[in-house]
Amino acid sequence: MTVSGLATPYGFQDFPHYTEGRSASVNKIVIHHMATTDADSVPGIWKNREASAHYGITQDGSIRAYVDENNTAWHAGQWGVNSSSIGIEHANTTGAPDWGIAQATIDSSAKLVADIAQRYGFGQVVPYKNLFPHSEFYGTACPGQLKAKLQEIADKANDIMAGGNGNIATQDNGGSAPAPKVDNRSASIKEFQDKWKNRWALRGTFRIRTCQMQYGMYQALTDDLNVEPNSWFYNGIPTKLLEDLSDPQGRAFEDGAIVRFKDDVNFGTIDAYDTNTNSIGIQFTGYPDMIWFDADKFLAHP
Ligand SMILES: [Zn+2]
Repeated sequence: MTVSGLATPYGFQDFPHYTEGRSASVNKIVIHHMATTDADSVPGIWKNREASAHYGITQDGSIRAYVDENNTAWHAGQWGVNSSSIGIEHANTTGAPDWGIAQATIDSSAKLVADIAQRYGFGQVVPYKNLFPHSEFYGTACPGQLKAKLQEIADKANDIMAGGNGNIATQDNGGSAPAPKVDNRSASIKEFQDKWKNRWALRGTFRIRTCQMQYGMYQALTDDLNVEPNSWFYNGIPTKLLEDLSDPQGRAFEDGAIVRFKDDVNFGTIDAYDTNTNSIGIQFTGYPDMIWFDADKFLAHP
């Protein structure tokens, strides 16, 4: 178990929406705002909402731990990013549209960021290299005005790591320019993006490992297409999208059944990519969550 010494456990893992363990090593921090001034309502809201984060910082700068750093919190909206990051929530002092953040919250954030960066060997904290706003990975307004404070948090964190107290003057430049991006896409993701212009079609059959009622609907997992390790939340395919070729009725979905996507849903557009796990995300119409597939397996499948 790993929890920052700066944090106090609060409602610690008293909610189901995180994943035990990690499938990648930690190399980044993702900054969020709570979108509420009621810091105490977090993490209780995650008993129902399919979300979580490792830490939260209140208006007075108290740091609360919600999830063990060795576990994967569900905060970034991308499995690969969740696997490789620590998520920090920040309480707001005002609501929409300003979403104010107290200076005490920012100052504590810098301390926590410095502590995490030091423990995981990030080196210098640099926005868009190892410190990201949630909006970098998901279509969201989160983290509101904190997006323009990333450089301040990084500057203070770097000062603390260098032995300072983080109490340095910072000028708000409205957010720093993103670091130049290297092309770390896999061959499969390049092909989906460059050759197929984000389009996909998968008409061949595949074998399901198992089928269960999960999140209110029957879903199937398949090793033929899913990323490992796969989970019901990220990789479950609703059986309503599938036809069971092993069953004359087309809907028994026994373990090991041979299935295929129904004709009206076996093609479309890829909605998201995750280069860390070499995955593609597809959001099927009428379903709440993105389904993630292994890019190599998906591309190679007829
Ligand atoms: Zn967020």
